[in-house]
Amino acid sequence: MASRPSVLVVDFGGQYAHLIARRLRGLGVFSVLASASWGLRGVEGEASGLDLRGIVLSGGPASVWEAGHDGIAEWAIGMGVPVLGICYGHQLLAKVLGGRVGRAPRGEFGPTTVEVLDEDVILRGAPPRIRVWMSHNDAVLEAPPGSRVLARSPGSPVAAFEYRLGGTVVHGVQWHPEVTHSEYGLELLRNWASQTGALGTWSPGDIVGELVDHVRREVPPGERAVAAVSGGVDSTVAAVIASKALGDRLTPVFIDHGLHPEGEVERALRLLRASGLDPVVVDASREFLEALRGVRDPEEKRRVVGRLYGEVLAREARRLGARYLVQGTIYPDVIESGARPGADVIKTHHNVGGLPRDLGLNVVEPLRWLYKDEVRVIASRLGLPRELLEKQPVPGPGLAVRVEGEVTPEKLRILRRADRIVREVIESHGLQRGLWQYFAVLTASKATGVKGDRRSYGYVVAVRVVESREAMTANIAKLPWSVLEEIASRITGEIPEVTRVVYDITPKPPATIEWE
Ligand code: GLN
Repeated sequence: MASRPSVLVVDFGGQYAHLIARRLRGLGVFSVLASASWGLRGVEGEASGLDLRGIVLSGGPASVWEAGHDGIAEWAIGMGVPVLGICYGHQLLAKVLGGRVGRAPRGEFGPTTVEVLDEDVILRGAPPRIRVWMSHNDAVLEAPPGSRVLARSPGSPVAAFEYRLGGTVVHGVQWHPEVTHSEYGLELLRNWASQTGALGTWSPGDIVGELVDHVRREVPPGERAVAAVSGGVDSTVAAVIASKALGDRLTPVFIDHGLHPEGEVERALRLLRASGLDPVVVDASREFLEALRGVRDPEEKRRVVGRLYGEVLAREARRLGARYLVQGTIYPDVIESGARPGADVIKTHHNVGGLPRDLGLNVVEPLRWLYKDEVRVIASRLGLPRELLEKQPVPGPGLAVRVEGEVTPEKLRILRRADRIVREVIESHGLQRGLWQYFAVLTASKATGVKGDRRSYGYVVAVRVVESREAMTANIAKLPWSVLEEIASRITGEIPEVTRVVYDITPKPPATIEWE
């Protein structure tokens, strides 16, 4: 990945750093994240491995007079490539260039109208007023000497500026152009990127050969590898690429952990075979249920499943004489698993953070630089079945994280039935298009009901249906009431142990898509 024209996005702990990289990639600009928490040295190190064409400094929770990040901004300005600051990044650049940053006349959160004063490069062709998305308490009060103020808003006297000196081109915007709610956001990023020379140089569909070479380099001649396949798009694509590289030195392994939604194992195997893979199937469901007995904490459940998954895989690899493991880890997994030092571990993804490090296998991750929608582009380039591309994601630990609290065979049985009903009803109305995920959760609550004049006391099932583009954020689906009613009446009518059905109306953030 190193040799292509790239933009480095320095993440100051903002919520949207991934979105900045995603949007730029969507414009054909390969973008890589580096965390400011790595320090100047770490960021420089990351940049030195790239064909660097531009730098973006992201938003972040700190104020510019608190955290000592001036060095990173000074370094970026000195690199001789276009620099863009967003929110905190904007404030930091203004500060080190000699402008004045302080408390804003008023904080601005959410939709805000910005007045465009000067169309310069980044605002070329912008309407005189744009509605943008803001989130800040501080503001650039005076622009750096020698710069031009491009826009202002009620809470930001300098909502955007441009600074040029010799080969240095710096832009700052107080708002978040990467957020879809910002008018003119994508155009702004495109305008900025047009100065980098990297626009349109990246396309995930073109890199299949490169990914195949990567696997070939990682697994020396004569060595065998296993590929952990779940039937999801990421692991299938990784395995197909690895099999192109390794031929029959690769064996795909499907572990049945007994935690799959109803019908999922058969469907996964059918799709894997249709993708040209012939996996070894290991039935380890007993072992998994045994290991999960008495475990209630969600993170602990993920760890237990991850550890055992790794053990079963390592056992299988030994049996097959393989010392290499191919995994479908993607970029957000790498970042969220804490591979970015200093970041909060949001959830322990079973295929990254949760996998024991001492498996004795060398891990090969051809997709670790890619976002999900990029993997989908590659999948369609590889000619993999459409059904695979449209499949909703199932978390690695399967239903273990959709049963709140302890996982038991009874609870799994109830959840499978409820989940099947949710799917059937939604699909019978043709609503699945446009939905990212729709599933049931068996909560740890019980509630009173009355069924046939008889008091009953049973489980509460939650229904979760979300729309999303890249799973970084998600909106709840506004399903018709009649569809929700049908789901509730079928679940309570067909499953004696359930007395109540609730609809989860929380977006991400603040919630995650899965419950645990
Ligand atoms: N912490 C800074 C402020 O409140 C920057 C906020 C941000 O980057 N979203 O203004």
